[in-house]
Amino acid sequence: MSQRVKAPKELRAWEKEKQLIPVMIEKYCHGKHKTKGGEVCEECRALTEYALFRLEKCPFKVNKKFCSFCKIHCYKPDMRAKIKDVMKWSGPRMLFSHPVFAISHVVQMIRYKKTLKKEGKEKENV
Ligand code: SF4
Ligand SMILES: [Zn+2]
Repeated sequence: MSQRVKAPKELRAWEKEKQLIPVMIEKYCHGKHKTKGGEVCEECRALTEYALFRLEKCPFKVNKKFCSFCKIHCYKPDMRAKIKDVMKWSGPRMLFSHPVFAISHVVQMIRYKKTLKKEGKEKENV
């Protein structure tokens, strides 16, 4: 019998994101593109594959923050626009199905905005 090996603590956020990105894209596809059951349209399937590929190559896997707050944004512009739409649509809906994930996104967003504000002030003082 095979046992699932638990990911090291510092990779858990990355692992979680790999599990939840397809869930968010599927929710979006059902809501926006009216697909049914466990199916997604061709465009959303390609986006899922792309997002998972980017996550696999991500240089920030360790104690990973959400892609929305990434400094380099490795997505191609068209894919970035698509994933932004997915996040905007599915994000609030994750609050009911995956509350911890949704709340941690809000917490990171607040921290990120504070950092940007602080960096802005520091530049003003240079
Ligand atoms: S956008 Fe940033 S955090 Fe997200 S996969 Fe690309 S490099 Fe990693
Ligand atoms: Zn779709």
